[in-house]
Amino acid sequence: MGYSNGSDVPLSKLKRCAEVLDDMPLLSEKDLWLIRFTSDYYHHPIGEVVAAALPSLLRQGRSLHPAVEKYVASELANSFDFTALAKRAPKQAKLLEALLKAGGGGFDANQLNEILPKWRSAGKGLMAKGLMSSFECHADTFDEQLVCATSPDLILNEHQQDALTALRCSDQFGAYLLDGVTGSGKTEVYLQRVQDVLKQGKQVLILVPEIGLTPQLVARLSERLGLCPALLHSGLSDSARLAAWRTAQSGAAHLVVGTRSAIFTPMNKLGLIIVDEEHDQSFKQQEGLRYSARDLAIARAKHWDIPVILGSATPTLEMLQHCRNSTYKHILLPARAGGASPPTLRLIDTVRTPVTDGISEPLAEAIRRTLDTEGQVLIFLNRRGFAPTLICSTCGHIAGCERCDSRLTVHSRSRQLRCHHCGACRTLKEQCDECGEVVRPLGEGTERLEDTLKHRFPNAAIKRIDSDSTQHKGAMDAALQSATSGEVDILVGTQMLSKGHHFPALTLVGVVNADQGLFGTDFRSGERMAQSIIQVAGRAGREDRPGEVLIQTAFPENKFWRTLMTGGYRQLSDNALAEREITRWPPFTRLALIRSAAHQHSDAHRLLGIAKRYLDDNADNALRVLGPVDAPMARKAGRYRAQLLLQSSDRSTLHRVLKELRLIMESDPAARKVRWSIDVDPVELF
Ligand SMILES: [Zn+2]
Ligand SMILES: [Zn+2]
Repeated sequence: MGYSNGSDVPLSKLKRCAEVLDDMPLLSEKDLWLIRFTSDYYHHPIGEVVAAALPSLLRQGRSLHPAVEKYVASELANSFDFTALAKRAPKQAKLLEALLKAGGGGFDANQLNEILPKWRSAGKGLMAKGLMSSFECHADTFDEQLVCATSPDLILNEHQQDALTALRCSDQFGAYLLDGVTGSGKTEVYLQRVQDVLKQGKQVLILVPEIGLTPQLVARLSERLGLCPALLHSGLSDSARLAAWRTAQSGAAHLVVGTRSAIFTPMNKLGLIIVDEEHDQSFKQQEGLRYSARDLAIARAKHWDIPVILGSATPTLEMLQHCRNSTYKHILLPARAGGASPPTLRLIDTVRTPVTDGISEPLAEAIRRTLDTEGQVLIFLNRRGFAPTLICSTCGHIAGCERCDSRLTVHSRSRQLRCHHCGACRTLKEQCDECGEVVRPLGEGTERLEDTLKHRFPNAAIKRIDSDSTQHKGAMDAALQSATSGEVDILVGTQMLSKGHHFPALTLVGVVNADQGLFGTDFRSGERMAQSIIQVAGRAGREDRPGEVLIQTAFPENKFWRTLMTGGYRQLSDNALAEREITRWPPFTRLALIRSAAHQHSDAHRLLGIAKRYLDDNADNALRVLGPVDAPMARKAGRYRAQLLLQSSDRSTLHRVLKELRLIMESDPAARKVRWSIDVDPVELF
């Protein structure tokens, strides 16, 4: 992490440097600053932060510039009878054509895999004919971004123009919340701001919640900006990841698009960071180093003295409160771009109207009407599998997980019972484990809903999109492609469908079992639920046909629904902020959650008890300590879980206390029997 000419450590204890891996440091002073800041802020060992910041091949000691074999067309190829080859061996001809176009730089195996899968046998043929040769070189920054076709800027509407003007006001640090309703054309505003920064010769980093979102965004960026962004996400191979990291670090990549961990990418000429869908929970890592990429983006922008744009149709209360305090700038896009009208929302009372297998009559009627007029339908249910519960009709026994305090979900396609918390699974049986009588699945999951819809609308093309149906590589892209092209009449899916997608033909959204978040135990349940409903509703009617959203609820009189119907997300978030101010929850206070898990219940509590005693002995008025208590799910994957919540209106108090606590807990023998962690600014209290 640094150099020194002397040390307080005795000479006998100092170790020699084992090997010098790089001639030049891979991380600049500023990059190291971000690593130190992350380690301090999240009270996490700095070595693990460095590990999170580096691609895995570098962690294993590989060089940043590994040797690569490149393939080129030989001299002979220029004067070769191409037509004859094309007839006899079309694959060889195709490969040779590509190599001739590439010129002296040639292509490496990865690039050839993209151009012509299974090119190796054709390559052998060409080698034998002396038409192709290979040489070894060091991977350098020659993999600079390709330039693609460009399309002109779109004309901005008045609101977009105002937003862009506000974003252009400074190239120095400022946090800008781009708060635009769904379909308001946020991407177009980002794009034109990105162009400014690129023109100045600087780099831009765009963080997105999930890789599922990237294909649409990347296609648009490439088309408009004329460059292919370097991509950094978990779906890449190790060597592809290293290559992308290298282009970012060297400055060859002007634009980097990535998920959470891309926030650590070294970019010496960084001029702008954009966090798209800032409200998305996937920006927060939920294990190990529990960092928020969004919050680190803001810290990084501040230290680099560059602007950061946070975009969302449903901003988190944290960001809204910063805007109220005028620490961040609030930029509004209140209307949909291109004159599309906002979707109309309507509640369906599931107590008063008949519901069959999860679908109410009014919703079925609306689906029928939409299909008749060639519109597309999206049915949203945030629960995968066939049914959430398997119950015995005779004795009432419910199939539970042996390792967690949770029920097992029925998955009928794979004939399994699965635990969604620990991953345990067993074969689905027809008889009750307790009494041997017949069991039946209770409630709806996406699989069951898909069956119901197939039964009721036999002529419709139905596609289910959830984490089960998109496990295989490329499945998500293919599913989104068929949804976007309009081949699919009815989409059924979870949260995955609500995120940022643009389905041009979609006019009806049905929300089934919308009440899941109404009575949640987490203080953020309401905010979360509002975000997911607004996001999924926002998929409807984005082009010329108006959108309609039907929400099935058993509690239509609930205040949440009344507020949503009359005042939308703005009113809901205003109310929630007022409530949090009174109850002293974030953003009005800061939280840290200390979790522990052990095979024995008492062990899980002992370490937290020690922490609690320390806090009591060193009482601080600015700190409130809640617990230790059992976690809301007290047993998970065979371990008992307990937690201690620290709450403070003063950030520095909280961090001082955490620093002391970490040392005490690390050195206590009770820590050896438990897994424990500190979670600063937790997004889940489970
Ligand atoms: Zn039974
Ligand atoms: Zn389990």
